Amino acid sequence: MPSLDRIVIVGASLAGLRAAQALREEGFTGDLTLVGAEPHLPYNRPPLSKSLLTGDDDVTLPGDGFDARWMGGRRAVALDRVARTVTLDDGADLPYDGLVIATGARPRHLPGGQGTHEGVHVLRTLDDGLALRAALNRGPARVVVIGAGFIGGEVASTARSLGLDATLVEAGPLPMGGLLGETTGRWLADHHRRNGVELITGARVAAVADGAVRLADGRSIPAGLVVVATGVTPEVGWLEGSGLKVDDGVLTDAALFAQGASDIVAAGDVARWPHPLFGGALVRVEHWANANDQGARAARNLLRGPGDAEPHAEVPGLGTRVHGTRLQWAGFPSMADEALVAAGDPADDKFSVAFLRDGVVVGGVAVNYPKEAIRLRKAVAAREASASPA
Ligand SMILES: Cc1cc2nc3c(=O)[nH]c(=O)nc-3n(C[C@H](O)[C@H](O)[C@H](O)COP(=O)(O)OP(=O)(O)OC[C@H]3O[C@@H](n4cnc5c(N)ncnc54)[C@H](O)[C@@H]3O)c2cc1C
Repeated sequence: MPSLDRIVIVGASLAGLRAAQALREEGFTGDLTLVGAEPHLPYNRPPLSKSLLTGDDDVTLPGDGFDARWMGGRRAVALDRVARTVTLDDGADLPYDGLVIATGARPRHLPGGQGTHEGVHVLRTLDDGLALRAALNRGPARVVVIGAGFIGGEVASTARSLGLDATLVEAGPLPMGGLLGETTGRWLADHHRRNGVELITGARVAAVADGAVRLADGRSIPAGLVVVATGVTPEVGWLEGSGLKVDDGVLTDAALFAQGASDIVAAGDVARWPHPLFGGALVRVEHWANANDQGARAARNLLRGPGDAEPHAEVPGLGTRVHGTRLQWAGFPSMADEALVAAGDPADDKFSVAFLRDGVVVGGVAVNYPKEAIRLRKAVAAREASASPA
C-alpha cells in the first residue's frame, strides 16, 4: 500500500466528487484538494437537457457533500510527473503524492468556431443550460439542433414539449444508428417525426449564418436558435507534455491507473481503459453511472496501489427519455456483429434488441421495456450466449 499524504483531484464534477468522497470513506486523512474549472460546486448534468430547460432549477447531485479543500474556478494547465505538481492557471503549483484525473469532456463546436456565435449554443455546463433556457424562453421561430445523438434528441424533444418547432440535422443515415443499431435508429427516426420533429439525415452542415443553417447540398434551414450537439471530446489538453499516454482520453490500465504511473488514476468521461468483459478492448464511456462508479473505484485503487487494485468491469448503461418514451441501453451495441429483436415489436413502441459478437451478448437496447433493459444488462455481464428472454 503506497504512503500518500497529499491527493489532488482535477475536475470537480461527478467523477471527481465521488473520488473525494471515496477517499475519505476509505480512511484517507491527508491533505485533499478538489480543483474545478467551473465556479460551481459539483452539480448534476443530466437535468441540463431536460428539466432545467423547462424551468426546474434543481441540479443537485445525489449525495453531494465532500470533505476537501475546494478550489473552484481554477483550471489545471500543466502536470509535472517528476516534480509531482499540478500547475494552475494562476501560476500556483499544487504538490501531490496521488493524483486523480477527472476532467471529463467538452463539447465539439462546428468547424471554424461557429459554436461561439450569438444564437448558437452548445450544452455541457450549467451556464450553457441557463443560456439555452433563456434563449428557448424567448420563443424562437424554429430550434435547429445539429446532431441527433442522445443529447441532441433530448433537446429537440424538450423544445417540442415547450411548443416550439424543431429540426434535427444528422450526418448519419439514422439518429443514433451508429451507437444503437439500425432497428432502434429506424424506430427513433420515426418517433421523432411522429412527435413533430423535422428530421434531416445524411446532411452535412456547411455554415451557420444569417439566421439559417446552410447544408452542404445547398439547402438552407431558417433557425431562430441553433444548438450544436455533435458530441464531446475528452479534456486532456492540460496533460500535453506530461508524458502521460493520451489517445481519445487518458489511457489507463484495467484498474484505472494511467499507463506507466502508479500515483495517477483517471475516471469518468476522460478515462479510456481496457474493459475486462470485452476482451480488453479500449473503451471510453460518457455516461453518468460510469463516472459515478469509476470515480470511487479509481480513488480506492489509488489508495491500495496497483498490486491490490480492482479492475473496473462494470457494464456501462444509460437511459434517456425522448418525447416521453424511455430508451435504455447497456454494454457496447456498436461492437456487435449480429443484432436481433429479443422481445416486443418496434411497431408497438415497446421492444428490446440484443447485440451479439461471436455469439456472446455484448449489448442491449430497450424501448419502454425496463425489465428487458435489466435482463440484457445482466446477460452482458454474464457473457451469455442466448439473447432471448427465458
Ligand atoms: C446535457 C447533458 C445531459 C446528460 N444526460 C445524461 C443522462 O441522461 N444519462 C447519463 O448517463 N449521462 C448523461 N450525461 C453525461 C454525464 O453527465 C457525464 O457522463 C458525466 O457528467 C461525466 O462526469 P465526469 O466527472 O467524468 O466529467 P464532467 O461532468 O465533464 O466534469 C469534468 C469537470 O472537470 C472540469 N475540468 C475540465 N478540465 C479541467 C482542468 N484543466 N482543470 C480543472 N477542471 C477541469 C470541467 O469544467 C468539469 O466541471 C449528460 C451530459 C450532459 C452534458
